[in-house]
Amino acid sequence: MSNHDTPNSPPTSPLQPVRLSLDDTIQFRCHRDIACFNECCHCIEIQLTPYDILRLKQRLGLTSQEFLAQYTLPFEMDAQGMPGVRIRTLDDKPICPFVTAEGCSVYEDRPTVCRYYALGLMSMRHQEQLSDENYYFLIKEDHCQGHQEDRILSIRDYRLEQGLEIYDEMNREWRQIILKKRSAGPAVGKPTPRSYQFFFLGSYNLDSFRNFVFSPGFSEVYEIDPDTLEVLKQDDLTLLKYSFKLLKQVLFGEMHIVTRDDALQKRVQRRRELENVDETDPNKDYNGPIVV
Ligand code: SF4
Ligand code: SF4
Repeated sequence: MSNHDTPNSPPTSPLQPVRLSLDDTIQFRCHRDIACFNECCHCIEIQLTPYDILRLKQRLGLTSQEFLAQYTLPFEMDAQGMPGVRIRTLDDKPICPFVTAEGCSVYEDRPTVCRYYALGLMSMRHQEQLSDENYYFLIKEDHCQGHQEDRILSIRDYRLEQGLEIYDEMNREWRQIILKKRSAGPAVGKPTPRSYQFFFLGSYNLDSFRNFVFSPGFSEVYEIDPDTLEVLKQDDLTLLKYSFKLLKQVLFGEMHIVTRDDALQKRVQRRRELENVDETDPNKDYNGPIVV
């Protein structure tokens, strides 16, 4: 949770330039009685994943819209402008808004980056591979004394201790969407502002995404049975998984959610009405991804 260790950071200093895997060991321990307690939370730049936001907004009793407005700032994750969000620090100082004298006030729901520290995670996928490969890097910052503590454990055990299983599971699918979007190249085309808006909605603003799913236009296009609708109304985790499916469908044309037979015709018809489409235009029957 330093100013460097976003889950997909490239290996820049103070990351130690040694790739580690799950069975490699590290010497590290963090606890309340350590002299540097809380120091790392006073110098942060923390990128949030969709699951981080889900946990934090539930913890704080806020809607995702309220959480984004109060606690985050948007930023661009790469040169193409892929939208990300990070924790908004206090009054121009890099202090986390959740740190107190007693420690982290949202500890059980702290973000992925805070759980991983003092490790950095890097995910890579080669074009011919179906899944991504994870590498870990040790982050050694001068203020952090956890590296002098007398404890050695494997990265596998450290991840378990930090409750990273569910975070990694939820972040994995989202990270794959990002990697695919970045590596799509000319086959998929330059990302449009609209596709990035949709990525933002489906990734970070879960309650607004729910409103979108329950809008009349959505059920006009996508088939969704009443039982699934009921679960999506109540359960944020199921909704987030559904959102990832829809992102892949809209951004990459993968078919995960059944569309209604007449959806395309209705959409084209609506577009013609809205935009007064020229009937002589050879592209008038545009067949792109369906976004209502
Ligand atoms: S969320 Fe908690 S652990 Fe993470 S930087 Fe803030 S106070 Fe520290
Ligand atoms: S040991 Fe490192 S991670 Fe733990 S409180 Fe100190 S600076 Fe933060």
